[in-house]
Amino acid sequence: MAAAQPWTANTTHFIAGTWTPATTGRTYPNRSPWSGHILGHAAAGDAEDTERAITAAHHAFPTWSRTRPAERQRVFLNAADLLEQRATHVLAALAAETGCGHHFGTVQLDFAVKLLRQAANLAYRPAGELLPSDTDGTQAMAVRKPVGVVAAIAPWNASLTLSGRAITGPLALGNTVVLKPSEEAPYTGGTLWAEILHQAGLPAGALNVITHAPGEAGAVGDTLLASPLVKRLNFTGSTPTGRRLAEKAGRHLKRVVLQLSGQNPLIVAADADLTHAVDAAVYGAFIHQGQVCMCARRIYVERPLADAFTERFAARAARLPTGDPADPATVIGPVINEWALALLDRRVKEAVGLGARVLAGGEPAPPCYPATVLTDVPDEAEIAQSETFGAVVVVETVDSAEEAVARANHTDLGLAASIITGDSRRGLRLAATLEAGIVHVNDQPVNDEPQMPFGGVKDSGWGRFGLGFAAEEFCETQWVTVRDDPRTYPF
Ligand code: ADP
Repeated sequence: MAAAQPWTANTTHFIAGTWTPATTGRTYPNRSPWSGHILGHAAAGDAEDTERAITAAHHAFPTWSRTRPAERQRVFLNAADLLEQRATHVLAALAAETGCGHHFGTVQLDFAVKLLRQAANLAYRPAGELLPSDTDGTQAMAVRKPVGVVAAIAPWNASLTLSGRAITGPLALGNTVVLKPSEEAPYTGGTLWAEILHQAGLPAGALNVITHAPGEAGAVGDTLLASPLVKRLNFTGSTPTGRRLAEKAGRHLKRVVLQLSGQNPLIVAADADLTHAVDAAVYGAFIHQGQVCMCARRIYVERPLADAFTERFAARAARLPTGDPADPATVIGPVINEWALALLDRRVKEAVGLGARVLAGGEPAPPCYPATVLTDVPDEAEIAQSETFGAVVVVETVDSAEEAVARANHTDLGLAASIITGDSRRGLRLAATLEAGIVHVNDQPVNDEPQMPFGGVKDSGWGRFGLGFAAEEFCETQWVTVRDDPRTYPF
């Protein structure tokens, strides 16, 4: 590959503050999606390794949860500085390991640094409130406490930020964590975080990282779900996997936060500024080659603007530079793996077989799948039904934005949505009727900031990431009362 790899990417688990190989000694090759080269070997962990990590996190909890706020704050501020200092290295690693181009790499880095700086303040968040009581002489309190060990399962597509948000809120609130990154991103979604936080002063055992070979996530996930020491699990990934985890979590009565798939609409009203609408749609559909859960998957355009929009949008899509993610000019880099590329190809061909027309792209260019615009996609096509993780978007003409909302809501998923209109008040009215956890008016759907309530409705998940909301998800509230004088009882 063109860019040098400035890092040796052999990675191990990180357990109790120590770099540790898998108990079995097994490893698996971590391949670059662009070149196919082996970047290094990663520990192929199993249930036993996971148990070791859980035990380490459990033992670290009493100390970390009682660490003074100033000390916890210092760790996160140090980590933010270290991550910033290593920007070049991190961007190169993201490109090599996950095919992430320069722009999306800087988006991830910026998010992660802000996340750490904001998390530094969580240590000083009020730890509860006083509650009025009708029992004379009783003082009542709601006391917020960290839960203990939190498990975090993260995907590869925005490996740095999605693993970062999975661990940072829980840790900053005083929990300890076992992180299972994706098998596609053992470094940028896993051991990189351990390196940074360890160097920043996080005590041994507070964060543990377990990696595993492709196809072996189940053993790690099942162990995390079954362990009584793990009090919460957060998961970011696809709806089918999230559903399986939630079913198992139910058996163990374990609370989970789920951030799952999206089938996100972008609605263009007839009074929209055409240039802005096209710019927004190109960015929202094709950032990171369409491999972001918030990407626009369906674009609905009100009829008067439909021809002009569709023509300009498809022409822009057809010209997007495609290729090496290490080249800063590249917009469409490689698809994460051959399986994902084959799925894109199959779904596009299936839609075409059912009558869809290809306005741009439509043929794989391995390891890339060029920006592809489809229209006339029938509802029964798989691409219309479920999230298709890549640079493929469907454009549809509608008679009204209200019809677009009805069509957009006619899906099981509800993550992000956006509306482009010259009348922002109408945009807000439409936003209120969209069944989505996130709606942006006069923007495209791919946005995130660490403090925002990020999450979906319907089959896009439960709960909210976002540091202001982390306390709801990763703490327990204990009702405590205290009296100074004896109480009189009726018997
Ligand atoms: P994606 O399409 O983003 O890879 P997945 O839902 O397959 O979506 O993967 C997201 C995360 O879920 C990854 O870390 C993956 O290893 C993990 N995962 C996949 N299957 C399981 C499972 N059975 N149990 C626990 N984690 C799993």
